[in-house]
Amino acid sequence: MFYETSAQLSLFEVEQYFPGALPDDDWSFIYQQRVFPLIDEKKFRHLYSENKGRYNKSISTMVSLLIFMGMEKLTWRGAEFQFPRRFDWLVATHTAVGEANIDHTTLFNFYKRLKADSVCRELFIEITDEFLKACGTCIKKQRTDSFFIHGWLQILSRYGLFKKTVRKFLQSLRKQMPDLCDNIKKDLSIEYLEKNFDITEKDKTLAQRKVSLMADDMHKIVTTFKDDDKIKQYETFKVLLKVFTQQCEVKDKGGDEGSEIIIKEKPDSDTICSPHNPEVRYVRKKKQRVTGYKGFVTETCSSDNKTQFITDVQVTKATEPDSDQLSEIHDRLEESDLKPEKQYGDAGFVNGKTILESEKRGIELEGPTSGRSQSFEAYESDERPLDAGDFDITVDKKDEVHVNRCPAGHVAKSQSRSKKTGKVNVHFDADVCRDCPKSGQCPVKIGVNVSTFNIDENGYAGAVRHHKYMNDQDYRKECGTRAGAEAIVSELTRAHGMRKSRHRKEKDTMLQMIFGAIACNVKKFIRHGQNYGYLTPAFQEGG
Ligand code: SF4
Repeated sequence: MFYETSAQLSLFEVEQYFPGALPDDDWSFIYQQRVFPLIDEKKFRHLYSENKGRYNKSISTMVSLLIFMGMEKLTWRGAEFQFPRRFDWLVATHTAVGEANIDHTTLFNFYKRLKADSVCRELFIEITDEFLKACGTCIKKQRTDSFFIHGWLQILSRYGLFKKTVRKFLQSLRKQMPDLCDNIKKDLSIEYLEKNFDITEKDKTLAQRKVSLMADDMHKIVTTFKDDDKIKQYETFKVLLKVFTQQCEVKDKGGDEGSEIIIKEKPDSDTICSPHNPEVRYVRKKKQRVTGYKGFVTETCSSDNKTQFITDVQVTKATEPDSDQLSEIHDRLEESDLKPEKQYGDAGFVNGKTILESEKRGIELEGPTSGRSQSFEAYESDERPLDAGDFDITVDKKDEVHVNRCPAGHVAKSQSRSKKTGKVNVHFDADVCRDCPKSGQCPVKIGVNVSTFNIDENGYAGAVRHHKYMNDQDYRKECGTRAGAEAIVSELTRAHGMRKSRHRKEKDTMLQMIFGAIACNVKKFIRHGQNYGYLTPAFQEGG
């Protein structure tokens, strides 16, 4: 049942019991006076029954413990151990000596309640908003970066994935329907339920042969159980079916010859990489190999700010492209009234489409565009390929592009927008193009009668940005603001444990990220108070 912590202070609080035990400027006093009151317990009321069960432990205290865990990378048991022994934690949470009795199970169960709810994101926004006001932090400029969050799962080869997927299904079948399990086992090529289970095969040729045999096994399982009302509902069967469809193809041999199972050379994108958690994805970036998630972090970055704060975090599949997440970042920042005027990102976030979409929201997205070489040597070469940025193009009041002249100064013969592709087809005289010394570098396609150049607003915006970035040193310097986001990524991953997920599921990892971000902001806020003090009236009574 919901219980709100009493505002009455105990006589046995650390300050009363052991006056002077902590220095006056200890972080715990700042937390107690300025952060602890921001945790509005009423917002957690809906997580509890109105009339059933035991009363909850103090919600402000449990939330604070989760923040402290994020600050110090502690485990559930670690937090339980520290709480009664740490004067600073007792002071920070107004807990009387001898009353620090929240065990790790209670804390974990509270965390589980929070997983399926948006209350923690709201708390993050409210706390951040108060911090921004109290520290006078301007949100007009913000920067965004992404990073990989490693999961706990082993990186599996196709051999390991197939073997584990079949084994997991057979294990659940054996549990529910042992007879059916025995029957199907007889038709399979290997013993998947053996005790000494090995998921590696060093001999490459043998491994390939076994992969084919296991693909046949999966096909046998799928055809045997796909119409079984009960078994087709098993989570392990659904995963097996998905792995099979993502990795293999069934080819009809024709006539009475049946079918052949072909292993796809490249599996479908967005594929399951472990049967233990179908949500995680495998990605490879340079030397990094990750089976896990991707984290996104946005923080303020005006150079006038004494302290920068995190304004948004998110966890997605590891395969999520940065540019696809940008509009969701903007949605959340708008919703929480933290929308910037300028946002800096690296080439992963910036392309013609995201530049124009951001512009429509009133956000100037700054940074180099994706998919283009940033080599100055190549850019300054006379031989470099030309792009839309080299044409004389104007954008009209309806935001539509019009090509005036090509890089050689020739006027287009005609131009019209294709209904099929949505792009503008611009035609030049083919004879002129054939004789043009720039034809080898020009993006026009030279036909018999006309040469055609395709362009749309996104392509033009991306090209213009690329030229600006490569030509304007001051702009490049300004875009360097983004590099500061790497420091916040480093702080979140190294100091707040976000390099590795403590959980299997994306939702749970998201909660870990939110508490990591709150912890990071709390630390910055306390440091700001110790160094510069706070602005009023953000924390004045009723202010
Ligand atoms: S190839 Fe044609 S369109 Fe391209 S620069 Fe030369 S004349 Fe202009």
